[in-house]
Amino acid sequence: MKKNITIVGGGLVGSLLSIFLAKRGHTVHVFEKRRDMRTEKINGGKSINLALSHRGWRSLERLGKEIVDAIKQIAIPMKGRLIHDLNGHTNFKPYSKTGEAIYSVSRGELNKLLIELATHKNNVNFHFNEKCLDIDVATQEIILENENDFSKKIIKSDLIFGSDGAFSAIRTTSQKRDRFNYSQFYIEHGYKELHIPPSSTGNFQLDKNTLHIWPRKKYMMIALPNIDGSFTCTLFFPFEGEISFEKLQTEKDVVDFFQKNFPDAFPLMPTLVEDFFTNPTSSLVTVKCAPWVIENKIALIGDAAHAIVPFFGQGMNCGFEDCMVLDQLIDQYDSNWDKILTAYEESRKPDADAIAELALNNFIEMRDLVTDEKFLLRKKIEAKLVELYPTEWIPLYTMVTFSTMRYSEALKLGKIQDELMAKTIASIYPSGSIETINYVDLINEYKKMK
Ligand code: FAD
Repeated sequence: MKKNITIVGGGLVGSLLSIFLAKRGHTVHVFEKRRDMRTEKINGGKSINLALSHRGWRSLERLGKEIVDAIKQIAIPMKGRLIHDLNGHTNFKPYSKTGEAIYSVSRGELNKLLIELATHKNNVNFHFNEKCLDIDVATQEIILENENDFSKKIIKSDLIFGSDGAFSAIRTTSQKRDRFNYSQFYIEHGYKELHIPPSSTGNFQLDKNTLHIWPRKKYMMIALPNIDGSFTCTLFFPFEGEISFEKLQTEKDVVDFFQKNFPDAFPLMPTLVEDFFTNPTSSLVTVKCAPWVIENKIALIGDAAHAIVPFFGQGMNCGFEDCMVLDQLIDQYDSNWDKILTAYEESRKPDADAIAELALNNFIEMRDLVTDEKFLLRKKIEAKLVELYPTEWIPLYTMVTFSTMRYSEALKLGKIQDELMAKTIASIYPSGSIETINYVDLINEYKKMK
């Protein structure tokens, strides 16, 4: 039976979800608190651009070629990491030998495109400037407030999805219920976005097909390309402490710090000081909650269900995968929504918890380990294993970023790999060579432990 479905939050996940549900013939109403970004310039919030990877693309492909082709027009492939050291030297680390890439896309452009594609469907209706204030679970009524005239209205539907982000109003309402589990965890780092413009001739000033990283142990900066030839840099930096946002108070503090620590990026950032003091310093939170589904009438999806830190570049990809899994379950359970929603939560919750953990761990790898001797040794051993046993030994980054293996499975295998690598490195470190390793024994042990 076709349903009347409400989606609260028309961000990346809510917009995509509306397309999936409309394709099934349901009538979908999306209520979004912001203005229509297709006609009015608004700050998309969070990051300016983000990395779309395999899981995101597979989810989009499920909706057909039109959507994939449209997004490819605004996506720039990044084929590996370019590590910038303290002397301004760089070292390229490809994601794979076969040229696999992740794609930099503008959050705003992607969101606009998804809204546009959704509204091409007759049965999707977007309502902008409509903020959800509250929800009555028993009656499935949502109270909305218009952001222009503050008028209130109540709407009712058969099914409600909360895709209203990390600080979800739908989830907040659910929190008032008995036996609703909720946790939020802020890391001690915040982030600030900065800018590298195109050159005077309109060209990229750094290699456009790589993810640039300046790892500095306690902090790091990254840069992703934009289609206008610029880069958005994100500085992940402690809020407080010896090296921190609170210590960079004056123009001189900022200039001296960047000149010293990012010597090759600094000359490319003419608006650094202005950007630094104008752009917000934002925090990074991990949100976990359960249940995601309430009385089989209300379901959380995307960041509303599982906000994670951005260090694996998976938040949006995970949210897109939520939509794909939901769609697969609609096929499997022939539109029996009780079964679909139960299976959705059972399937996705462990994976969301897993990517939350993986994302926190990857911060340490990105900022700290990429220059660490033992870490580099491990990478060499893993490269040899991949060469010898490409279908058996799949590095954690590849499992997460270039496959649709469940995140929980990737986490499990990643932990086994850590254990084996620690043992192997201890057996040859510091003098041994990786040639002395018995790779046959190593892979057999891995197979046994899996
Ligand atoms: P959101 O994007 O937060 O959208 C929620 C929507 O709901 C918004 O439009 C909001 O206006 C609306 N809304 C909120 N409250 C209400 C209300 N009460 N009523 C009505 N509407 C409401 N992910 C990746 O996959 N790759 C990356 O490289 C990546 N980089 C990131 C970098 C940073 C610095 C950060 C912070 C995040 C990054 N992410 C990345 C994560 C990604 O941004 C999120 O996972 C993604 O935006 C989640 O989409 P969403 O639609 O669930 O939530």
